[in-house]
Amino acid sequence: MESYEGRQQEIVDRIESEETVTLWHNWEWQLRHSVNDIDTFQRLLGVKFDEEEREEIEKTLDKFPLSITPYYLSLIEAEDFRNDPIFMQSFPSPHELMVAVDDMEDPLSEDHDSPVAGITHRYPDRVLFHISNVCSMYCRHCTRKRKVGDIDSIPVKSDVLRGIDYIANNPQVRDVLLSGGDPFMLSDEYLDWILTELRSIPHVEVIRIGSRMPVVLPYRITNGLVEVLKKHHPIWVNTHFNHPREVTASSKAALKKLADAGIPLGNQTVLLAGVNDCYRILKKLFHMLVQNRVRPYYLYQCDLSEGLTHFRTSVGKGIEIMEHLIGHTSGFAVPSYVIDAPGGGGKIPVMPNYLISWSTNKVILRNYEGVITSYKEPDSYEPIYCDRKCDDCKLQLKLDEAEEFRSVGIARLLSDFDKDLSLIPEDTDRMERRNVE
Ligand SMILES: *Cc1c(COP(=O)(O)O)cnc(C)c1O
Repeated sequence: MESYEGRQQEIVDRIESEETVTLWHNWEWQLRHSVNDIDTFQRLLGVKFDEEEREEIEKTLDKFPLSITPYYLSLIEAEDFRNDPIFMQSFPSPHELMVAVDDMEDPLSEDHDSPVAGITHRYPDRVLFHISNVCSMYCRHCTRKRKVGDIDSIPVKSDVLRGIDYIANNPQVRDVLLSGGDPFMLSDEYLDWILTELRSIPHVEVIRIGSRMPVVLPYRITNGLVEVLKKHHPIWVNTHFNHPREVTASSKAALKKLADAGIPLGNQTVLLAGVNDCYRILKKLFHMLVQNRVRPYYLYQCDLSEGLTHFRTSVGKGIEIMEHLIGHTSGFAVPSYVIDAPGGGGKIPVMPNYLISWSTNKVILRNYEGVITSYKEPDSYEPIYCDRKCDDCKLQLKLDEAEEFRSVGIARLLSDFDKDLSLIPEDTDRMERRNVE
């Protein structure tokens, strides 16, 4: 690989020859010089598309816009750019115009599960709060492609206030996940205001921020930003590395700033065909992340959003990757592999099977090496009957400290106190016949 500093200077020269590489580290300069058209892209990278290809790309651009920071562009290796993982994630492909029959505009029903604009309330105790709809780089695999560049969905201050009100009025919300767009596209002052408002709500225990800035514009992680975040602890940050090539000296410096500020860091990777659908690439990536104090959190199966057909792998590929990770490397370097259920079911973990069989007092398990083993269950385990009357229980949960809400789903079926025997879909013929009677 040629010297990275050398390539940076080349690209800076092509942008504005009188400017020096110091400006490279200025995030506002990077944003001002974001690449939004094919000509600039060709010029900066020193490549050329032929006429036919260009027409196809332009058609794609009409539907899904392009934006790449000079920093992220500089990570593309021009020699074999078509197979380059940075190029594939950032530059439009005509394949985006292919819409498969099962594709959806909003596969996760985020707009459906939205009690007020900007809030998706899907899980009992936490909400997704969209506070920005812009990003410094438009990921080609974005699950919210429908909103990219859509000026009508920019959350204005009154929207954000309504979202904050919703959270304040719903005491079960203990975890607020700020997302977008990229929340770090907002100014330090504005973020400080949002975080202050959220922090003033007593039941908000943790605030999480999802941002790809450490990957696509690491210079956004300034000392000033980190000072703002630190004031509102506990703040967790989740970022989005997909390939080892994205872990550069600059991104490492950004991660270090965040980690040194006491912010627990997580990473969400999307499994992408042609980019990272290889267990060796992902294992390398996860090792690099933990070296930089980032915990691999989720590995996502690619969503069913429109324009992502060419990025999707089989689910088997994901399970194969998990098989190569679990047991083979540090537990904390292994993310959970999840499929975000179409229709708004939320994230569903998927794993190889480790539980092979079962009797009344034994379970049979296999490990990563193929060793088959048995675990003898205790002969006399006295389960604790739970009627949720903690005062009469010998276990010491002090419920005055732990607010509790309804139990739902399979957990409810398992519980002692709820008499429900089954979860039944509403729209079966059998249920309809009952309604008639
Ligand atoms: C992913 C997600 C969350 C957070 O889920 P965790 O599993 O707690 O990380 C919350 N709300 C929505 C709508 C989500 O998609």
